[in-house]
Amino acid sequence: MENKKYVYLFSEGDASMRNLLGGKGANLAEMTKLGIPVPEGFTISTEACTKYYEDGEKLSEGIIEEIKVALAKMEEETGKQFGNKENPLLVSVRSGARASMPGMMDTVLNLGLNDETVEGLATLTNNARFAYDSYRRFIQMFSDVVMGLEKSKFERILDEVKDKKGVKYDTELDANDLKEITKMFKDFYKEQLGKDFPQNPTDQLIEAVSAVFRSWNNPRAIVYRRLNDIPAEWGTAVNVQRMAFGNMGENCGTGVAFTRNPSTGEKGIYGEYLINAQGEDVVAGIRTPQPITQLENDMPEIYKQFMEIASNLENHYRDMQDMEFTIEQGKLYFLQTRNGKRTAQAALRIAVDLVEEGLLTKEEALLKVEPKQLDTLLHPMFDVAELKKATPIGKGLPASPGAACGKVVFSAEEAKEWKERGEKVVLVRLETTPEDIEGMVAAEGILTVRGGMTSHAAVVARGMGTCCVSGCGDIKIDEEAKVFELGGKTYKEGDFISLDGSTGNIYGEAIKTVEPEISGDFGTFMAWADEIRALKVRTNADTPRDTAQAVKFGAEGIGLCRTEHMFFDENRIPAVREMIVAKNEEQRRKALDKLLPMQREDFIGIYEALEGRPATIRLLDPPLHEFLPHDDEDIKTLASDMGLSFEELKETVESLQEFNPMMGHRGCRLAVSYPEIAEMQTTAIIEAAIDVNRRKGYNIVPEIMVPLVGEVKELKYVKDIITKTADAIIEREGVELKYMVGTMIEIPRAALTADQVAQEAEFFSFGTNDLTQMTFGFSRDDAAKFLKYYYDNGIYESDPFQRLDQTGVGKLVKMAAELGKSTRPNIKLGICGEHGGDPASIEFCHNTGLNYVSCSPFRVPIARLAAAQAQVKNPRK
Ligand code: PEP
Ligand code: MG
Repeated sequence: MENKKYVYLFSEGDASMRNLLGGKGANLAEMTKLGIPVPEGFTISTEACTKYYEDGEKLSEGIIEEIKVALAKMEEETGKQFGNKENPLLVSVRSGARASMPGMMDTVLNLGLNDETVEGLATLTNNARFAYDSYRRFIQMFSDVVMGLEKSKFERILDEVKDKKGVKYDTELDANDLKEITKMFKDFYKEQLGKDFPQNPTDQLIEAVSAVFRSWNNPRAIVYRRLNDIPAEWGTAVNVQRMAFGNMGENCGTGVAFTRNPSTGEKGIYGEYLINAQGEDVVAGIRTPQPITQLENDMPEIYKQFMEIASNLENHYRDMQDMEFTIEQGKLYFLQTRNGKRTAQAALRIAVDLVEEGLLTKEEALLKVEPKQLDTLLHPMFDVAELKKATPIGKGLPASPGAACGKVVFSAEEAKEWKERGEKVVLVRLETTPEDIEGMVAAEGILTVRGGMTSHAAVVARGMGTCCVSGCGDIKIDEEAKVFELGGKTYKEGDFISLDGSTGNIYGEAIKTVEPEISGDFGTFMAWADEIRALKVRTNADTPRDTAQAVKFGAEGIGLCRTEHMFFDENRIPAVREMIVAKNEEQRRKALDKLLPMQREDFIGIYEALEGRPATIRLLDPPLHEFLPHDDEDIKTLASDMGLSFEELKETVESLQEFNPMMGHRGCRLAVSYPEIAEMQTTAIIEAAIDVNRRKGYNIVPEIMVPLVGEVKELKYVKDIITKTADAIIEREGVELKYMVGTMIEIPRAALTADQVAQEAEFFSFGTNDLTQMTFGFSRDDAAKFLKYYYDNGIYESDPFQRLDQTGVGKLVKMAAELGKSTRPNIKLGICGEHGGDPASIEFCHNTGLNYVSCSPFRVPIARLAAAQAQVKNPRK
């Protein structure tokens, strides 16, 4: 197997080789092929990463040999040599996975410098300052990335020298200062690690490549992968590229730019750059950059060339491009291009515009928007009237749109902790780093003091759809003391602030938010999704309010109405409890009689909110003790309300305790024990349908669903109760009313015997919450406590309760669907577990031939898009 090729020159690849070369590598190769100026280099493939891990975190001799061969070719192409004193080759070493993971993995720049080549570089460029500045950056990065020495330690040394000299900016340091700093850095390295800083460039390179492969499994990359559904097995590629220097003087520079505005989607170049700087200065937000349009004045020829290439790249990739470039002594180089990350608003506008510009078909455009991203558009915006009344206390850059209101916290850990306590927080930081990822996820909004529109905070927040205001330099912050000052006032941890990510405004108060609308580009785009998709999208809703919300978001019916949620209502819980503690059928029926009119009203409200759309209503499911009080005080109160003695009620409550309530007296087992409950619910469902059909002229066909079935005979038993009750009402009312009886498939045995179950069931709805719980054999309520160890150890990559386990649970779903159809070819198939709102799981449902998915109201638009994407990828006839 050692004949396999692991290393590819840029001139040997193209964009189609993304899986092997990573996104960055494939695009560098493609640009090289297109004749765009790209500094020479090569890519070490993702397969080499896999092999690195297979070999026990070691680069094999074969791969090292291939790297050396590629390096020799690169030396030939550039006319420079690794370690050559006169004309040294310097390279960057960067990660680049199949999917972009901004800032999550490591990079080393200026590799190839040592005590000798630095002098060579100084002579060659006639710029000793530049040479030593590059060297000190290299030592710092190598020490951090490869050897794990903290960056901040080096920053401290740098700051000491600046203080001693009485200067503020790095640019004010001269060649001698920087030379002194490199010496101090090397001394520090030796002091910490007990060995000299490596002088051999090839050794430096091998170490750096290994470090980038290692960084694939650093904690922040693992978290990012989990959030973005990126499998660990993909691995990262490593790109080794000749350094182009943007920091050699005033005819140099570096920048990042987008072909369209990544916040709004507006067409036109958008970006920023710095004269005489290296790329990390822009991304890290250390110096505040110039808008890209300023380049037209600074370097008109370069600007013209840049604009031409940018436009060609956008047309070539038929998508908005995010580009990094460097100008080295008046020559422009492209260091990267990729389809740019964008906000949900921008994604929709760009997709719609690209179709209108004739660059994309509707089908292609549908694939350009990440379904989960739509979530940000479905959440509240500021109430316009309230916003008008509020006065901003300051302004930063509108880095990621949306409205955020929450309590101030100053660290990522606190953001996470506060969120877990149920608080809404705004994370306020000097600047964010990739380590802050979990806190950024937890926060409603992010506010930073430093950094531009392409700083880490801005890029990551846009990717997550979290509101972000960056670069508010007016803030005086003390992260340790947990306070900041802005607009003449001091804000402490726990104080409310609000952020407007679309304007950059910051408010020192809580501002009311309002519900969003699906209109404009969003409306156009969703209409395309609806035209194309084959799967129907229903919602899980238990109240008229949620139902109406879901209908507004495009739900085509209810896939699951959990009737028990209505039982917790303050007005009815007494009757529910009476029913539960009833000693005999007569007492129970008395309590049920009280509940009947309330349930009927519930269903009337829901049917009306559905305006004639179908509804699947499920009979009572949870263990009964969930409805009972547990501590003595509450039991006493209830006992006196019900005219029972405390002891008597306590005994009943205790008798209802179960060791394993989720596998206990619940689901259809309740109807088997107490048929009168199913009778009451059926009565309410049928009478409500008759009433609404009469008044509104709808043709509602109630779908009555029996939960937790594992055996066809138990379904038949409950179904007989339902049909007997329903038929009697229909006859009594003298109306025509069709209704259906079906079942949840949520117990493995039901899936295994689905051909038998289908003899009685007119529809199946996969309850993948319970099905996952029972297939894995771990509790849906407690698994989170130990699943984190499974993620840490790479056993599971994602939560099987959120993302359907297609291998195991999915196999049961597929089998049950096929068995069900073998008995009843027209059986209606749906899913109503949490997975019904997860894009990857929805794709699976499409491919498995289900008729619909059902999910919570706020995921309905996500599901509509995911279903359309599944159809584009794998058309169903
Ligand atoms: C399920 O088990 O997937 C389901 C939808 O039912 P519940 O979550 O109410 O148990
Ligand atoms: Mg269930």
